[in-house]
Amino acid sequence: MQELQEKPKYHIWTIGCQMNKAESERLGGFFERQGYQATAVADEADIIVLNSCVVRQSAENRVVNKLHALKSLKKQRPELTLAVTGCWVDSNIDQLSKGFPHVDHFFGPGERPYWLEKGDWDRVTEANAGPTAYIPIIQGCNNFCSYCIVPYRRGREKSRPVDDIMHEVRERVRLGTREVTLLGQNVDSYGHDLPDRPDLADLLAELNTIEGLARIRFLTNHPKDMSPRLITAMAELDKVCEQLSLPVQSGSNDILKAMRRGYTVEDYRRLATEIRRQVARVALSTDIIVGFPSETEQQFQETYNLLAGLRFDTVHVAAYSPRSGTIAARELEDNVPATEKKRRLNMVEQLQEGIATEINAGLLGTTVEVLVEGRKGGKWQGRTRTDKLVFFKDTNNRRGQLLPIRIEQTSPWSLQGKPEIE
Ligand code: SAM
Ligand code: SF4
Repeated sequence: MQELQEKPKYHIWTIGCQMNKAESERLGGFFERQGYQATAVADEADIIVLNSCVVRQSAENRVVNKLHALKSLKKQRPELTLAVTGCWVDSNIDQLSKGFPHVDHFFGPGERPYWLEKGDWDRVTEANAGPTAYIPIIQGCNNFCSYCIVPYRRGREKSRPVDDIMHEVRERVRLGTREVTLLGQNVDSYGHDLPDRPDLADLLAELNTIEGLARIRFLTNHPKDMSPRLITAMAELDKVCEQLSLPVQSGSNDILKAMRRGYTVEDYRRLATEIRRQVARVALSTDIIVGFPSETEQQFQETYNLLAGLRFDTVHVAAYSPRSGTIAARELEDNVPATEKKRRLNMVEQLQEGIATEINAGLLGTTVEVLVEGRKGGKWQGRTRTDKLVFFKDTNNRRGQLLPIRIEQTSPWSLQGKPEIE
């Protein structure tokens, strides 16, 4: 205990996508191996890292506000190391350093903290091997959706070799991980840049052979790159979960064209129908942007009708926000008023709340398999194979266990139940 208290402390603040969460987890593991311990209290930390996101203006504002808020702490404690990583850190670090002179280090997304000792940056340890793990398999994106800043900040697609991924997953499973989520901005274009051109279906088949691994998920899928082979792999491989994140973004062909998404609403409907036909009880989630430049009421209605018809398990909806450097910000006027964007966003959220209420109510009285991740508010929490959040009470330590849970209560956001154990 004495020894623990003497360790220097690190604090990582993370916003944005799962890729950022995975990178923060990796950073945490690295700091621990360098002799630091985690703290949830920024004021106590010797190193603070902000892992930033700029996908929307609101995320960028949060980063800037956080940095301003940390100014006085840095003034009080100049020995504190303040570092920033993530998509806010672009190639122009000199300019960032001038604007925020109280920041000691800027380092790009996925890069190591270059000022600390060299060492086993990638190693997995018990400290960062929980029941579930995010595994980045492809970095960057080769699509240039007109609204999106990701390809400019994360660069072109670069896949990790299959052996490298297999090694990491085996290591994690050895330390207790039961479920992996493979990450990429566009996971289904995995492998095209590797020597033997393996695809995601090949990788899933390899991972499916790992003893002790119980579940495999992957996100995010691009509808134009989702291959029939991948759908078959989902249907046939027992560890691949019945869950798919497939962002449609809009239900209007004109808007999809302006977004440069590379598919039509009809293509998307066909794809979703085929996935549902082959993968029994699959839970589909999607992303929507409302208020894209020039989106009319009629075009928004097309999105609304698509969502009402396809009935997704989850919908992530965002109001369009122009990102400087993107094609849309350069060429299209942000002409849907903020109040109208908000109205459309609320309409989608309300519609989805009703749909999720009904879908989840259908699980009442059924028994689902839950992988227990940890405790929250005096209850155990975990997820089903279809990614539903489940809470239950139990006096035993259930972390990391796969349990049958009988569902007794449902809401649009989560389920409550009881373990069915003799
Ligand atoms: N690669 C995924 C895809 O193809 O949809 C999504 C990645 S993107 C980083 C995550 C989500 O952020 C998108 O699905 C989109 O809904 C939202 N997003 C990206 N750029 C946006 C913008 N300029 N305004 C509003 N939302 C945006
Ligand atoms: Fe952005 Fe489109 Fe790439 Fe997704 S596929 S990260 S939305 S450019």
